[in-house]
Amino acid sequence: MAGPVRVCPECGRQFEFSDPAWRCCGVPMRLAAPPAAPVPLGQLAGRPLTTWRYAEALGVPARWWQPATLGEGITPLLPAGDGISVKVEYASPTLSFKDRGVVLLLAQALAAGASRVIADSSGNAGTAVAAYSARVGLPAEIFVPSSTSPKKIAQVRAHGAVVNLVPGNREATAAAAISAVESGGAFYASHVYNPVFHLGTATYAFEVWEQLGGRLPDTFVLPVGNGTLVLGVTRAVAGLLAAGLIPSAPRIVAVQAANCAPLAAAWRAGSSMPLAVDASPTIAEGIAIAAPARGAEILAAVDEFATVTEEQVLAGRSELARKGWYVEDTAAVCWAAARAAGGSWGEVVVPLSGAGLKTGWTPASPA
Ligand SMILES: *Cc1c(COP(=O)(O)O)cnc(C)c1O
Ligand SMILES: [Zn+2]
Repeated sequence: MAGPVRVCPECGRQFEFSDPAWRCCGVPMRLAAPPAAPVPLGQLAGRPLTTWRYAEALGVPARWWQPATLGEGITPLLPAGDGISVKVEYASPTLSFKDRGVVLLLAQALAAGASRVIADSSGNAGTAVAAYSARVGLPAEIFVPSSTSPKKIAQVRAHGAVVNLVPGNREATAAAAISAVESGGAFYASHVYNPVFHLGTATYAFEVWEQLGGRLPDTFVLPVGNGTLVLGVTRAVAGLLAAGLIPSAPRIVAVQAANCAPLAAAWRAGSSMPLAVDASPTIAEGIAIAAPARGAEILAAVDEFATVTEEQVLAGRSELARKGWYVEDTAAVCWAAARAAGGSWGEVVVPLSGAGLKTGWTPASPA
């Protein structure tokens, strides 16, 4: 077993797992095949309580993932009222769902024989790459927008990674990282460009399937910035359908901040390409992506888009905290959207994608 194969959607060229190439024909690669399905429910009992209980579906040899894992996965799934269940993704080793994908990027860096790693991020992917690079003993350099929450930057530094603060928007940060990668010698641990990341995020849906006793909810409500969770979940659904483990696909609803919604705007306009939008700042920093590199791919994968205002995000954040879940602003968008939908999406699962301690927010006024 040599690991998952990537393919260029333009020219069809295939790339082995151990090949560090990160782009072809100027566009992001895709997985050559959706993940295989997990083994049937009965056989999962007794396996490790991490994403590696789905090792067959991920298809990465143990000699690459075993040195990289920090025990990611198997986050709690709990009913939270109004037909909405929350999946507590901030109960992950670096406090966000990015760990699911980043462990695979570092497994691939090992397979490729990399000697150092570069990544760019609005925060959480950077903290995850820093931690998992430390785990495998590779030096890492992380590019983040200078507006990134100080606690995320501190976390990256604590793992021994070099932080490069880039002025301007998220796109400027990506451009700076890419130019450092092109100058040679480093493995680009990109959650945006590397589709191996989607195999990791597919485990989110495998877990929900297992936690619900072998079925999926009516609707997955998911945040979308670069679409890594959305694309992983849609791949997982394809794998479960192909294996006959679910009878039909759940509805996929993707949520953007109204202040930065190139994909929701495209969906409303019936466009298959993201629209150029005049983005204004949003407290949902983790999904403030004005020009998503996989925009067309995300639009094709999603059934419905929703947007939430800044006020809705703040209200959702408080509401979750009053129920016992302290999340960062970005992690409140799906809850806010599901509450606004008022039950029209049926049984819903939303991720609590990142931790409140990463931004350390305080309530506006004492209760
Ligand atoms: C990365 C992130 C998102 C959005 O994920 P995309 O893959 O960019 O769509 C949502 N919430 C949190 C907390 C994140 O870190
Ligand atoms: Zn190509």
